[in-house]
Order: sequence, then structure tokens, then C-alpha cells
Amino acid sequence: MQEMISRTPVKLAVLGTGGTIAGAAVDPLDNVGYAAAQVGVAQLLASVPALPRLLGACELVTEQVAQIDSKDMTWAVLYALWQRVTHHLLQPDVLGVVITHGTDTLAETAYFLHCVVSPALLSAKPVVLTCAMRPASALAPDGPQNVLDAVAVALSTGASGVMAVCAGTVHGAEHVQKVDTYRRDAFDSGDCGPLAYVEEGALRQLKSWPEPGANVINLAIKNIANTDDWPRVEIVMNHVGASGAMVEALLAQRAGGPSAAPLLRGLVVAGTGNGTIHADLHAALRRAQEAGVQVVRASCCQRGRVLPSGDVDQFTDSQGLSAVKARIALMLRLMG
Ligand code: ASP
Repeated sequence: MQEMISRTPVKLAVLGTGGTIAGAAVDPLDNVGYAAAQVGVAQLLASVPALPRLLGACELVTEQVAQIDSKDMTWAVLYALWQRVTHHLLQPDVLGVVITHGTDTLAETAYFLHCVVSPALLSAKPVVLTCAMRPASALAPDGPQNVLDAVAVALSTGASGVMAVCAGTVHGAEHVQKVDTYRRDAFDSGDCGPLAYVEEGALRQLKSWPEPGANVINLAIKNIANTDDWPRVEIVMNHVGASGAMVEALLAQRAGGPSAAPLLRGLVVAGTGNGTIHADLHAALRRAQEAGVQVVRASCCQRGRVLPSGDVDQFTDSQGLSAVKARIALMLRLMG
């Protein structure tokens, strides 16, 4: 069991971004037909009865950074989150940050923060994202327990790095993926497995806290406050009958078509199996590469990683990242 820190005066920052955890439906039995992002973060915390006991002398500081369904997440919100997380972690009396977030893009936000928040801050303090698969208005909402568990993780002695907490399971930002459309235990860390479990408020730690990301990136994006200018990277997918049509359309824009869309800088291909790609799509990706577009190969498989083979090596390896996370990594690299 991990000992909880109870020194005074200390604070925990809780940043709200919306999601189902803040969602409301007219009918308490309706777990899908709700509107996300209705309840403010302060109100959300007030509805967790055991929270004051867990916090002890630790004071909560709340901030509504956004109020959105996470399917609508934007770079502007991620940028704001990065700024606010950094601000709070820099305060000597703040032990860590908890973020309430929708489940749909939580893994991307966690990975983004893992990459961009200063390693010096992340190796000393935790950033814990949490969420819910049932709206706040549900007969049995899972948000309150998830919030309690996230706070328990954030207050655990030595906690550091970016993590996600859902259904009593703690995942590291690099490996966490949403794997279920409906069930409460909606996240998985693939081959890596979870970092810890929260059981009756106590942490059972299986692995060390996550190492902060490489953070090449931080320096590069420090000055890019205009998130509209962030490099454009698209994802294409391999499947039965895949063709080069999507890639060709993107390249046509790049060649100066009538579109006002930003210039394509990178492509992530979500390959089948060991990153395999249909011959036609492959040929188009080679043309894209020759035209100066960076191509990264990931796999749609939830476990394993793309292993080197003659064919595979023609494109940059996603290093085991899912396609959506490989996209974030490539965007950040392109800013360097
Ligand atoms: N649509 C919601 C969101 O991602 C889903 C959820 O939170 O579970 O914001």
C-alpha cells in the first residue's frame, strides 16, 4: 500500500475538459444518448462524497480549461492544457495535476502531454487523466470512483509522469489505448500491461512510474502559439481493396490545387498485421515520400509492434505507437 502525502499546505490541481464524465442525459437509464460536457469540474468534484476524506489537508484548485466532447478535441485545447499543466506543476505547493477528460481521445491527450511537458517537471510530479464511460446523470455513474482513484494515484508518494486512470486501472501515457466502446473498463495498455491498480483507495503498483517523453519537442513548439500553423499530418488505413486514391488526393492539394487546406507534411499509414500495405497504397505512399512528405508506418493491431522486414523498412517505424499517437509524434517532430 502506498502512503498518502499529508503535509500542509499542499494543493492538487484538477483541470476539467468535459467528456462523458461531465455528461448529462434526461433519463438516468440512458447511457449513450447524453450530451457530453455539461457539468463543470468544480460541481463534478463536489459530487464525490469521499473526496474530502482522501484529500485530508490537501487543497483542491480547479480550473475549467475546456468543456467539450473529446471527439472534438483541438490543438488549441491541447496547447492550453499543456500551458495550464505546466503552470500548475511549476507551483512548489502543487503535488500534481488531475485532468477530467472524455474517453474517446484521452489516449492522444495523455501522449501529447507525455511528449511536451518538461521532463524535469514530469519526473517529480504526476499528471493523471481520468474519465467515465457513463454520464454524471446515470443510475450508476463511474466518474466519481474514477476521480477518487485518480486523486489517490496523484497523491501517492513518488508518483510521477503522465498516466490514465479508469476502472481502477492505471495506464502509462505511451501505451494506453481505448479498446471498448461501452464497458466501464475501456482502456488497455497492450503488451506493456497496466502500471498499477487502485483497490479500496490503495495503490498496488506493478511497474515503475512512466518515464517522461523524449521532449525534443518542447523546445520546438514553445514558440508556436498559433495552433492553426501546426504541421498537417493525415492518417490513411490499409484494408481490403485499399488504393492510392486518398494519398493522391492529398498530394494533388500539395501540388497547388484550389484547396485552402494547409500543406500536407506527413502521413501515418495504419497498416494491417505487421504494418503491411496494399501494393497500390504502397506505391502512392512512395510517391508521397518522393514529394517530400514524411511517411510513418504503424499497425492497426492492438498488440505487438511492426517488426523490421525489407518492405517495412521503406517507411519510418512508429516505434510501437498506435497510428493516432504516431501522428502526434510526427507532428511534433516536424515542428523541430
Ligand atoms: N464522447 C465522450 C468523450 O470522449 C466519450 C466519453 O467520454 O466516454 O468526450
